[in-house]
Amino acid sequence: MKRASGFFARIFGFEKLSKYESDYLHDSNIRSCSYMGFIVVLLELWMLIRQTYSKIIPKYQAGGDLFDLLVKYTSKYWLFLLIGVGLMLFCLFYNREKKLSKGRFIALVSVGTACMLYTLVLKLETFMATSEAITPVMAAIMNIMLVSVYVFLFVIGAVIVAYALFKYLKNKNVVPLEHLAIIAFTLVCLAFGIFVSYSDFWAGKEIICYLTMVLYVGCLLIYRPYVTLLILGTSFLGFYFILLTYQGGLTFARQEVVISGVAYKIISGDAVNYITFFISLATICFAIYHGRLTEARNSKALEKSAKEDPLTGLYNYSYFTKLAKDSIENLTGDHVFLFIDVHNFKAFNDQRGFEAGNRFLVAISKCISDVFRDSLCGRQADDHFVVLTKAEGLSDRLNAVNALVHGYDDEILLGINCGAYHLSGSAEDPRMSIDRARYAAKLIKNRYQTIYIEYDERMSEAYHKRLYIINNIDNAVKNGWIVPFYQPVVWSDSGEMCGCEVLARWMDPVYGRLFPNDFIPVLEEYRLIHKLDRAIYEFAFRDLRAAMDAGKPVVPVSLNFSRLDFELMDAVTELDELAAKYRIPKELVHVEVTESALMDNYSKLNEAMERIKALGYSLWLDDFGSGYSSLNVLKDYQFDVVKIDMRFLSNLENSEKSRTLIDCIIQMANRINMLTLTEGVETKAQAEFLHSVGCDRLQGYLFGRPIPLDALYERIGKGELTVSERRV
Ligand code: C2E
Ligand code: CA
Ligand code: CA
Repeated sequence: MKRASGFFARIFGFEKLSKYESDYLHDSNIRSCSYMGFIVVLLELWMLIRQTYSKIIPKYQAGGDLFDLLVKYTSKYWLFLLIGVGLMLFCLFYNREKKLSKGRFIALVSVGTACMLYTLVLKLETFMATSEAITPVMAAIMNIMLVSVYVFLFVIGAVIVAYALFKYLKNKNVVPLEHLAIIAFTLVCLAFGIFVSYSDFWAGKEIICYLTMVLYVGCLLIYRPYVTLLILGTSFLGFYFILLTYQGGLTFARQEVVISGVAYKIISGDAVNYITFFISLATICFAIYHGRLTEARNSKALEKSAKEDPLTGLYNYSYFTKLAKDSIENLTGDHVFLFIDVHNFKAFNDQRGFEAGNRFLVAISKCISDVFRDSLCGRQADDHFVVLTKAEGLSDRLNAVNALVHGYDDEILLGINCGAYHLSGSAEDPRMSIDRARYAAKLIKNRYQTIYIEYDERMSEAYHKRLYIINNIDNAVKNGWIVPFYQPVVWSDSGEMCGCEVLARWMDPVYGRLFPNDFIPVLEEYRLIHKLDRAIYEFAFRDLRAAMDAGKPVVPVSLNFSRLDFELMDAVTELDELAAKYRIPKELVHVEVTESALMDNYSKLNEAMERIKALGYSLWLDDFGSGYSSLNVLKDYQFDVVKIDMRFLSNLENSEKSRTLIDCIIQMANRINMLTLTEGVETKAQAEFLHSVGCDRLQGYLFGRPIPLDALYERIGKGELTVSERRV
């Protein structure tokens, strides 16, 4: 029962529409009004021209008074023309969100004022239907209609002026006035149709004008079906009775028309046709309403996906920045962009699973949008949120967010890092501002106690350097600012050079020599690292090829691979193709992958590791012991060499524990068939100890800093370094 009533409610349009849906229907009505306005204007212009030629000019030439003639024969057309122009402008300039421009404001106010003035200047009786040929009832009805239209014009003028004032001065949507415009149009169209068609009917012609106008109203404008039924029903019934008052009743006139000598009888319309038309029109209106509603729903879904982050329902980043850009100029008082990063989210995700991670993100977003209810909130990506809010009372709000995040899991230490950037003017680019806030947030990333930091001028220099790197990586590669430096690796027993690691340097025209610490983390953060690495591999192979061609002694090169290289490019294929291009034997290439890269069990990475080995390159584990869970990495992959992180060497001389640890690591690696290399060897004592515990290779300042290739060969030439023939 309930379902059936729901069904009927839906069919007849009694259901509750969402704001989006009713706005959508409303907007499309306003658009229809502007088309219809245009047609009315054309029609009335045509009528004015016709009247001028057929009535005014002949009568004027016969000695009539021009003003009287104009008033008598054209008043009602001017009237409709003005209404048409007014409504067309009104609808054309309607915009749900934007403020009116000055030009549009002036246009609207002038037309509105003209409408009002017109009704004041003309005398009412010129409108009265005076033809003696129509019935008294009809004359009365038509007079009422004309007077209403006349009064209407005044109201419409006032509405247009009021709308323009509100919109221009206060930038407010004046919804009742907009509805009034649509209703006005409906009534004007119906009145016009009835008016013209009655005269036509009376002259024995068909009632086409009325039917056309009803079609306009019913099909171009979309009311809820029950409203359509009401409007059309009343109008049809009303007109039907008007026609009944015609002397002959509804026995419509039949006319005889002779075409090429044949006589045709044309029936001008009859009651049955009239009712059939009403029924079919009503059906079409229903269909259009429901069609348009479906359209609204589809378009809402589309619009939603363009604006919202699907997981959290917050604005997505691009829509957030668009809204922020639009709202910045209207902000008063101190406002900030916040960049909120969740500390340890990755650990949470790893330990609790992806689904739980998603639930956590949803909870955080809900909290952020509650706490910053009056502000603009969005999700940038991953666990990064952005907010545009007023600076006042900020710390309480952030504490509230932090409290939720901190208390979310009993075992994992969670919290937020928030960077803030104060807006300094209306010309701010939100993306730049957010980037500064993000930069600030990064500075406190590993400080558990600090949840908030503001971007300030002191950060500005470092920030700009970073920006410079991001913007110039392509130039740096293209212009040869990226240079490979080579650091020797030696056998621990003989001290002879058995390889070298390629380390990037950026020789910048502005900043001078930049070290990997300056640019590698930034390039990784912005996912540009593959551009650098691809270039470095090529430079290294080119150098190696040149040395081989020149008959110089060569050693294998170790290349550093970032975890992101495997995501951002097909790193293994690139490497293999470059090696082929420069004809580099595979045993001369070592691939270094850091331990942290391998920690999340990412299938693409596994595949890449297997391909490296399968293609015949040597696979080295870099920075062993610098992160956590290293032993799993050893279990999951077969490395040729494990590079022990230089942190183990600090304090080696005084710490028995450090010595034991290194000893054990080397034993363990050997037991699972991996060789070892220790990095950061700076003293002879360290080197001797490492040799004594069986570490195969050594690398560090003791044997040489990273230097350009020429300098390396110079050292070899001087006998400071001896090149070993041994490969393993
Ligand atoms: P890494 O791969 O662990 O490279 C060793 C780093 O330790 C180098 O720093 C090297 O100069 C430094 N080093 C070598 N021996 C000693 C020593 O005896 N004492 C001390 N204190 N340091 C020593 P560098 O060149 O600044 O590189 C830093 C990191 O940047 C590298 O660490 C590597 O992870 C990364 N990196 C460098 N070049 C590239 C590259 O072309 N691509 C990628 N993806 N990463 C690179
Ligand atoms: Ca390395
Ligand atoms: Ca290393």
